[in-house]
Amino acid sequence: MRSAQCCVSVRMAARLLLRSATRAAVYSRRLVPSQAVIGRLASGGIPTDDEQATGLEKIVLKASKEGMDPYNILKPKEYAGSEQDPHIVPSITNKRIVGCVCEEDNTAVVWFWLHEGEAQRCPSCGAHYKLVPHELPH
Ligand SMILES: [Zn+2]
Repeated sequence: MRSAQCCVSVRMAARLLLRSATRAAVYSRRLVPSQAVIGRLASGGIPTDDEQATGLEKIVLKASKEGMDPYNILKPKEYAGSEQDPHIVPSITNKRIVGCVCEEDNTAVVWFWLHEGEAQRCPSCGAHYKLVPHELPH
């Protein structure tokens, strides 16, 4: 009795697997590449990131061409950290927590809240940080 039930469940599992594999094949046939990709593939080339990027990746690529970095993906610019050239900290709110590695070979990070307004100094090394309002594209 038990072995018969076991066979039935194995058959059901196999049937379910087959059904999902068939569905996957049907869905994959429905995926149609964009005209730009088709054109590039027809000419024998490999589509570039610009041609095949969509959604957020496309927004970031477009912004980077205009010299912007809306999601802070690129390496941050370097500032002297002085009063005249403070470290610029972009923020979508009126405060942001900052970690300062005061000296290059320090193993401890000094964390402090940076608020909107005048530049603030790191409580340990005295480097200047300034919060700058930042808006995300969406
Ligand atoms: Zn510091």
